[in-house]
Amino acid sequence: MIDLSEYEYIVVGAGLTGSTVARILADNNKKVLVVEKRNTVGGNLFDYVSDCGLIVQKYGPHTFHTNNKHIVEFIKRFADFKEHHTKCEVFIDGVFTPSPFNFKTIDQFYPEFKAKVLKQKLLNKYRSEKATILELLNDKDEDIYNFASFLFAKDYSLYTSKQWGISPDKVSPEVLKRVPVYFSYKDWYFYDDFEAIPIGGFTKFIKRMLDHENINVVLNEDAFQYISFEKNCVLFDGAIKKIVFTGELDRLFSNVYGRLPYRSLRFEFEELNSNYQDVSIVAYPSHDYLFTRITEYNKMPFQDNKKTVIAKEYPQEYTEKTEPYYPILTEDSSNLYSLYEKLACKYDNLYVVGRLAEFKYYNMDQAIDSAIKLSNRILREETND
Ligand code: FAD
Repeated sequence: MIDLSEYEYIVVGAGLTGSTVARILADNNKKVLVVEKRNTVGGNLFDYVSDCGLIVQKYGPHTFHTNNKHIVEFIKRFADFKEHHTKCEVFIDGVFTPSPFNFKTIDQFYPEFKAKVLKQKLLNKYRSEKATILELLNDKDEDIYNFASFLFAKDYSLYTSKQWGISPDKVSPEVLKRVPVYFSYKDWYFYDDFEAIPIGGFTKFIKRMLDHENINVVLNEDAFQYISFEKNCVLFDGAIKKIVFTGELDRLFSNVYGRLPYRSLRFEFEELNSNYQDVSIVAYPSHDYLFTRITEYNKMPFQDNKKTVIAKEYPQEYTEKTEPYYPILTEDSSNLYSLYEKLACKYDNLYVVGRLAEFKYYNMDQAIDSAIKLSNRILREETND
């Protein structure tokens, strides 16, 4: 390990959260050492250039989208962004239909006259541009209810059960509170004010964020081998430093209360000589396929290429050997997380932040927001000291 004496702060993890905190502290004249166990920066945003010259996202498809203009200002410091609109489809009974579902779905699965009646009913009844599938499932109108039941049976219950490894009949419609159906032909996946990808990719963006004279990054170092605890302090290689931790909180404390549950993923990449699908992401809810989605990388912006790369995404168990992707958020897991959070609070020089350490499903803008808030808190504490 390198000489720690010049660093006031150790940031564990060079993902988006750790990099944001490191950059803000460095901009405020703090010396920061970032310790990353992988051989790459960017955490789950890591992307690389494939043999055929396409930027491929190793840990799944990522698009930056937000309604927060301060976050847009922040990220634009580190890259030029190409605005675009992600389009997705779902493959149902041999048909590729838009995701989220919209009026095209009705046209595809209903005869012309019935489709017209159903669309008119939805427009008359729902004055907004969309409703959740749960609302439609609770609708008293038989046609609307049947439409929602069809979507639930053919997509949501199958997809959710495959994604989370449970039987389709155990999937509760309650989990669908946020899944919209559009009452129009709008076919974007997100409708935030800003949706874009950094030109040159996310890894380049993170590298520019970390490129600061006050930041040093060490890769291939698992911070756990340096961390120890003494009374109300966390020690790093025997020294007292302020530690910003963005990894798994249960592992920091050797799983003393038990392991926090996650769902993991596995990606199978394939380079092909010709286009594979019409849009960047296609979901496959049917259990005839073991994968849940296929992402095609020449459909991402600024990726013109005759060849293409596809990634098939397989959900899998989270074990010692697999990556934690999605926290499984239940009452039990929240209670378990609270125990770890309380334990972390006992250590004066420890700050926990990010999707793993906070055990939250954060989109990128939320991860940055949380990182900015924590950095400002740290800087305020310094001023008050
Ligand atoms: P991470 O990216 O997990 O970074 C944590 C880092 O800490 C990792 O590099 C890890 O190796 C390191 N680390 C952990 N423990 C240690 C240790 N002991 N020692 C050293 N290093 C350690 N968000 C969007 O806004 N748009 C999207 O389109 C989108 N798509 C997604 C698709 C998938 C499949 C997934 C899973 C997430 C998606 N997200 C998306 C969410 C996005 O990935 C997260 O918001 C973001 O990665 C959070 O960054 P983080 O730094 O908190 O965590």
